[in-house]
Amino acid sequence: MNKTSQIISQARREGRKALLETEAKTICMEYQIPVTPFKLAKNDEEAAEFAGQIGFPVVLKIVSPDIIHKSDAGGVIVNLQNAAEVKNAYQKILENAKKYDPTAKIIGVMVQEMAPQSTEVIVGAIKDPQFGQTLMFGLGGIFVELLKDVTFRVAPLTREDAQEMVTKVRAYPLLTGYRNTPPSDIEAIIKAILNTSKLVMDYPEIKELDLNPIMTYEKGAKTVDARIILE
Ligand code: ADP
Ligand code: MG
Repeated sequence: MNKTSQIISQARREGRKALLETEAKTICMEYQIPVTPFKLAKNDEEAAEFAGQIGFPVVLKIVSPDIIHKSDAGGVIVNLQNAAEVKNAYQKILENAKKYDPTAKIIGVMVQEMAPQSTEVIVGAIKDPQFGQTLMFGLGGIFVELLKDVTFRVAPLTREDAQEMVTKVRAYPLLTGYRNTPPSDIEAIIKAILNTSKLVMDYPEIKELDLNPIMTYEKGAKTVDARIILE
């Protein structure tokens, strides 16, 4: 059985609908959707060791089935520059999580590469009761939240569909480079959309998927946070 099926069956067995970020990103990797490299640490020594392997700066995040919005729980600390900072952050995150929800089951702390700031995009999928798996695309932050500048297409997507989703958002000129904003790798974005389409078609039990944000670069892109909700 492939990793995606294994992860989904395990979540099912444990009665979990929301996958952990570690699980969602492992699935992304199986579908060639680029994510920040990561490792799951079980103690502060391990976190520091993994940070050294991944390369500084790193981000630490709580991994708990009971904490969906990690920053709300004080469960995300970014821009850690050395082993000492990583160890401190590890303890701080556990402390914050316990304060937020004393009964939360803690799996560990995720150590991940810190993706440099850039133009952020969002790729999402939602299972519409009428149309089935539907893909969403937009530029991150205010473009999606405030301006609702997003496009939708029903899966499975053709390359043309994915290309249109990207070029039809009003903020598209930002992706081709504007003033101080360097151009983004449009091909990498299109591939991420197409691979997400394939993923949700292969697994109709995925009810919601959010790659938010994906940092886009002149070459390539990296998903910083991934969420998958099962039916
Ligand atoms: P939440 O569960 O609260 O949505 P996120 O994983 O999205 O937690 O982390 C919160 C924010 O921290 C992100 O929106 C992003 O701005 C920043 N962040 C998280 N992970 C990274 C990373 N690997 N590289 C750079 N920034 C990150
Ligand atoms: Mg997030």
